[in-house]
This record gives sequence, C-alpha cells and structure tokens, in this order.
Amino acid sequence: MSKRRVLYEGKAKTIYEGPEPGTLIQYFKDDATAFNAQKKAVIAGKGVLNNRISAHLMTKLESIGIPTHFMRSLNMREQLVRQVEIIPLEVVIRNIAAGSLSKRLAVKEGTILTQPVLEFYYKKDELGDPMVNEHHIMTFGWADPYELDEMIHMTYRINDYLNGLFAGIGLRLVDFKLEFGRIYGEYGEVYLLLADEISPDNCRLWDAQTGEKLDKDRFREDLGDLVEGYQKIAERLGLVPKGGIIEGGNINEQLAASLGEIENELAEKRKLRGLKMSPGNKPRKV
Ligand code: 5GP
Repeated sequence: MSKRRVLYEGKAKTIYEGPEPGTLIQYFKDDATAFNAQKKAVIAGKGVLNNRISAHLMTKLESIGIPTHFMRSLNMREQLVRQVEIIPLEVVIRNIAAGSLSKRLAVKEGTILTQPVLEFYYKKDELGDPMVNEHHIMTFGWADPYELDEMIHMTYRINDYLNGLFAGIGLRLVDFKLEFGRIYGEYGEVYLLLADEISPDNCRLWDAQTGEKLDKDRFREDLGDLVEGYQKIAERLGLVPKGGIIEGGNINEQLAASLGEIENELAEKRKLRGLKMSPGNKPRKV
C-alpha cells in the first residue's frame, strides 16, 4: 500500500512515521484480540469506526482543555498524531463494576461504584499487564510524581466529561483505559498528552435503557456482532448515517469514504500547559 516506514505494529493499530518530524500516522486495523491475543478475529469495519470515534472524542476533549496527540483524520482508517514518548502505563477508571474488577473482588457486574475507581497497569505483554500502584511507578521510574499527579487529574476530568457526553446519548460509560505520552519543549520541559485512542476497544459502554453491551465485550464474551455495537455508538455520536456503513459483514467503502474528515483545529493553536507543581515544591530542573 505504501513505502512508509512502520514504526510499530500493535494488535489493533499500526504506527507509521509521519510526514513531518514529530508526527506519526496511526492506522486502525480491523483485527480484534482479547485475553492477551489468545482470541483473535478480523472484523470488517472495526478500524474505520474506531478511527472516527476516537478522532471525535479526542477533539471534544481538546475543546475542554485536555491536550491530546490527535491532530487530524487523514482518511477512513488513518489519523495524524503527534509523536510522544509513551508512558508505559494503562490508566483505567471505572464507574460501574465489570470485567476484571468484578472478577478480582467478586463485585456483581453492574454495581454502581460510590466513587470512580482509578487503577494503573504496567504495559508489558509478557507479564500480562499487571496491576501496579503509585509506589511501583515511582520506584521503577515509569513516571515522576508530577506526571502521576497530572495523569490522575486529567483522567478524572476526562471521566466526568465523557460520562456526561455518553449519558446525553443514552449510553452508560462503565469504564475505560487511557494512555499518556510526553513531549519535550524547547527548553527540555515536559508536557503530557493524552495518547493512543478512545474507542469501544478500550471503553465499556452499555445502552442505558436495555443494558445491551455495545463495546468489545461483545467479542470477549461472544455476545454477537461486534461491529453492530460499534456502529450503534458511532450513530448516536452522529459520526455515521443511520443504518451505518457496514451491512452484512461488508463495509460500504464509498459511503465510508464520503464521511467528513475530523480535524482538531485546537491542536494547532494549543498552548501546552506545563506540569503543575505542588505548593512548596521547586519547579523541576529539566
Ligand atoms: P478490565 O480490567 O476490566 O479488563 O478492563 C477495564 C477497561 O479497560 C475496559 O474498558 C477495557 O476495555 C480496558 N482495557 C484494559 N486493558 C486493556 C488493554 O490491554 N487493551 C485495551 N484496548 N483495553 C484495555
């Protein structure tokens, strides 16, 4: 397809070098994996839907002041993003018990949590992404205290905002996973950006009326057509026409290609915010 250099081949995305230094192209694949890639499938249209959903949500987040790596969508499956140094952590925030929390602590799925529960996992496939805490993060230097503070602060803010956004379209945001990355300023100062993607691959979303699971659990738990769920989310967000772009397992390429592109105008004008220092702390030498 192209002579671009592949920088990273992930389970659901391929990262190519971008047109300019400091940029990357994120290509959304149709591959679905679960249980540390023990379960696999190729699902037509998943990449197109995730590309659109993630671009839209990142743009919305930028509009409330969350700096993201997303710059603009390039085509159905690709987006231009800023190159960041990925922090090797998955930040999960939960509003309703499900998944590994329900299993680990025997909490009934669907239990509303009295406050959002935030968890960290160390990104290491060989170890199965183990759960870690702030002490591990400091001890092994995966992030410093300022970065940790900023990640927690941003995650709560993103959770509050997305809860409202999804509630407004009849969806319950059960939980989701975020990843963050660093970029370095002119003087070596560090800025944190929201990276990776926000899509039904890494969010649990349930229909508020029926409780139907519309996210990747459809695949994990064999609950029926995965893309049907993703389409319903995209439809409600106003990102695909009613009826969707995938019919009978085939993507309507023409229709998908005709959808408007998403641009993060704010990304261009963004004034990056340095890491906050706790009162009494001296700014960090960088
Ligand atoms: P759980 O820990 O219950 O399996 O997952 C919590 C939330 O984080 C879910 O929304 C799930 O989709 C997301 N999540 C956790 N780990 C991963 C991961 O390795 N990849 C992706 N895409 N999402 C994850």
